[in-house]
Parts: sequence; C-alpha cells; structure tokens
Amino acid sequence: MQIINDPVQMQKIAESLRLKHQFIAVVMTMGALHEGHLSLIRLAKQKAGTVILTIFVNPKQFGPNEDFHRYPRPFEKDAAMAKAAGVDYLFAPDAELMYFEGFQTQVSTGNIASCFEGSQRPGYFNGMATVVLKLMLISKAHLAVFGEKDAQQLAVIKRMVKDFNIDVKILGAPIIREDDGLATSSRNIYLSSEERKQATVLYRGICRAKELAEQKVTDTEKIIEDVSSVIESAPAAKIDYASIVDVKTFSKADMLKTGNEYLLLLAVWIGSTRLIDNAKLAV
Ligand code: AMP
Repeated sequence: MQIINDPVQMQKIAESLRLKHQFIAVVMTMGALHEGHLSLIRLAKQKAGTVILTIFVNPKQFGPNEDFHRYPRPFEKDAAMAKAAGVDYLFAPDAELMYFEGFQTQVSTGNIASCFEGSQRPGYFNGMATVVLKLMLISKAHLAVFGEKDAQQLAVIKRMVKDFNIDVKILGAPIIREDDGLATSSRNIYLSSEERKQATVLYRGICRAKELAEQKVTDTEKIIEDVSSVIESAPAAKIDYASIVDVKTFSKADMLKTGNEYLLLLAVWIGSTRLIDNAKLAV
C-alpha cells in the first residue's frame, strides 16, 4: 500500500492507472476507521482492481461549534487497518494542499440538502459536496462507494453526479452495526460507557418503526410518536429530529403508501454526542 499526501501526485498515479486500463474504486472517509469503513473497502475490492482510500477530515464541512479539532485522527492505526484490508493507495492530503491559497470555488447543493442535516448544519453539504467532487477528480475513480449510514449525504452525492454528468458510478453500502444494533461510527468513542449503553435507543426506535410498518400502520405521525417515546426512554437521549421521508426526494411523508419506499431519519444527542441513523420503511 502506498501512502500519498499530495493531490497532484495522486492524480498523476490515477492517470497512469487509467492508461493501464485499471478499474479504480474510491472510498472516502474522515478516518478513525471502523467496521463500517472496512465494509466499504471490501465492497470496493470486489468491484475494482485498484482501491484508493481517502482519509481527510474536511474543515469545510464542520461548523464553528462542531468537533473538527477533537475529531479522532489515529493515522498509524488507520494505515495499518487500510493495508490489512487490501487498500492499494491511501490518499491522506494536507488541508493546505486541498484548499490552497486563493481557493474559492464551492459546489452549491439544492433542495435535497436544505433539510435535516442541511438545516441543522449550515454549509455542511456544500462543504461535503465540494470535497467529494475534488476527491473524485483527483482519484479519477470509475466507482465510488458510500455508506447508507449517511443516507442524505448519499442522496446529495447521487444528485450532484447526475446534475454535473460526472462519470463515476455511485454504490451505496448497507449500514454496519455493533451486536446491540448501534451503527458503527467514528464518533461512538465520545460516548461514556453509560451513554454507550443508552445509545442503543436509536436502533430500538428503528426496530419499533419497522414493527409498526409490518403491522401496516401507515400514519407516520403515529410511528414517529412511538419511535420518540422509545428513544426518550433513555435519560441521556435528546431527539434532534425524527422523521419519515420519501426515499428519493427527502420530503416528509404523512402516510406510508404501498409500493413506495421511505426512510426513517434519526438524529439524536446522547449526552454531548450527536448520532445519526436511518432505516428503510415500506408497507
Ligand atoms: P465518515 O468517515 O464518517 O465520513 O464515513 C465515511 C464513509 O463511511 C461514508 O460513506 C459513510 O456513510 C460510511 N460509513 C460510516 N459508518 C458506517 C456504517 N456504520 N455502516 C456503513 N457505512 C458507514
């Protein structure tokens, strides 16, 4: 595995791989790798001859009061995990090489990015889309694998790829969970052991929603009410949002209609840690 820090060098390598007709997959992360990230790498390896893993804690997608400075950066451990997982190139650029002097162009995302994570975190999706576009262009990937854990992010990226005619196939990968249902996340390490126990309420809320959908309960207000009471049964939990949306448009759904697909979206504070999770719902 080769470690590259310079975007220009990475792009040159990618171009030479393309000239050798290599099929390139990219997995983009902010590091602090866990099973969720490794599942994306495994999927990328199944699909492509060359896998580029990017690790970049993107300053442009953190708000002033967010955790940019305390975000975990265990680079040596990440590099060892990436190597063991079969990554070919680990691209970990310096922020000054990504956002050099004079940098000023941003992707401007639309409607789909204005709600939920977008309304709670101004600038987040523009910053995310900008770095994803840069990483696509630098890695010259044919395929990019993203987790369904960040469902709105995935939808925004698919929209950008379509809107800009970007020649990269986007593959969504299922959410990886711990044995007790908590979705693996780099932010889980912020949880105290007591909070970690209580954090399972997100998954318990998801299970409750799925149960109700299976029982053909179609009133989304009723489902959200039940999910909220499950989540709020944990003293450390405070719901930021809990909503059921149409999977394509991210607009709120009043009723679950047969044949349509919906997403239950959750953002919940557990103490001072904000966790997100989601699940597909259908009746
Ligand atoms: P992050 O490092 O948190 O920015 O995540 C990098 C990529 O890993 C994104 O595409 C995430 O959706 C994906 N990811 C993070 N956690 C999980 C998980 N538990 N299961 C599947 N994919 C995940």
